[in-house]
Amino acid sequence: MIRKTALLLARQSWFRKTILGTPVLRDLAGRFVGGDDLPAGLAAVRALNARGIKGSLNFHGMHVEDPEEAARAAGQAIDALRRIRAEGLDAHVSVKLTKIGLDVDLALCRDHLHRILDCAAETGGFVRIDMEESRYLETTLQMFEEARDRYGAGSVGLVLQSYLRHRSGDLDRLLDRGSRIRLVKGGYREPRDVAFQAAAEVDAAFRRDIERLLARGISPAIATHDAEAVAWTRAVQERLGLGKDAFEFQMLYGVKPELQEQLVADGYQVRCYIPYGGDWATHLVGCLRRIPAGLLTRLARPAPRT
Ligand SMILES: Cc1cc2nc3c(=O)[nH]c(=O)nc-3n(C[C@H](O)[C@H](O)[C@H](O)COP(=O)(O)OP(=O)(O)OC[C@H]3O[C@@H](n4cnc5c(N)ncnc54)[C@H](O)[C@@H]3O)c2cc1C
Repeated sequence: MIRKTALLLARQSWFRKTILGTPVLRDLAGRFVGGDDLPAGLAAVRALNARGIKGSLNFHGMHVEDPEEAARAAGQAIDALRRIRAEGLDAHVSVKLTKIGLDVDLALCRDHLHRILDCAAETGGFVRIDMEESRYLETTLQMFEEARDRYGAGSVGLVLQSYLRHRSGDLDRLLDRGSRIRLVKGGYREPRDVAFQAAAEVDAAFRRDIERLLARGISPAIATHDAEAVAWTRAVQERLGLGKDAFEFQMLYGVKPELQEQLVADGYQVRCYIPYGGDWATHLVGCLRRIPAGLLTRLARPAPRT
């Protein structure tokens, strides 16, 4: 109930304006969100790149029902790819298919995806298709495979979720066909016959998939803030005799920044997923819910004057 209310609030434009108009809230939002628009997202990428961290820009939001909004979201991804190229930034673009019209019409969504990928091919950019709720899984796999066959693994990659039961064959099949994968635990509420519920089961499936992905993947990405999963990934990389640059860690912007910095200092590749624009406040609410109260109080405190 509280979660639903918070998410409903986060979708209201007055709520976003209140956050932006209140200094302490604006500062807090700035730790987890790239900003209200593309220039702000690009500024976040620039700052990360200066610290040796790559970016993946995501015009935030999902489940768009209005065709014009879907077209605008596709336009945002195209603008981001062009600006990344023009500014020579080290960044990708991440897209959710329901943000570019999957709930409106399959053909419309495919057209938008292909327009984005035409731009990626033209600018030497890379687009990652996020994975959403399991009801979109088959369509997303199909759209991705079509796109990979048309544009190549250098232009488009996909996210796979380890928490899904009975789907471990997807990883093997996609790797056999030369796909670029970001592996995650999985971020949605799913029924128990679809996804593991217990953290121990999810963690075990994630560790199993990390090993399979590192052994065979093209530019694999392990997206997690879980220190044990990070340690497991490092151990597998050493055991397989892979270089530290054979894969990348990915984390959300502002989450565990000290772990991100440590990995860069240790010689690993790190990429931050940076939500900006759209309904960015829903992302902020999601992050704040996961932060321990003590840390939240520290983050909300204004920086001391020097
Ligand atoms: C770059 C990236 C891309 C992702 N893309 C997708 C996707 O396409 N599809 C999908 O289903 N899921 C996606 N996810 C989410 C993922 O599936 C997990 O839900 C999420 O990463 C939490 O799992 P964890 O591996 O960090 O481990 P956990 O055990 O859940 O968390 C480890 C620690 O990190 C903290 N933490 C985790 N997430 C957050 C957060 N948002 N804010 C603050 N603290 C946090 C936890 O509180 C805990 O302390 C993505 C995650 C990342 C990092």
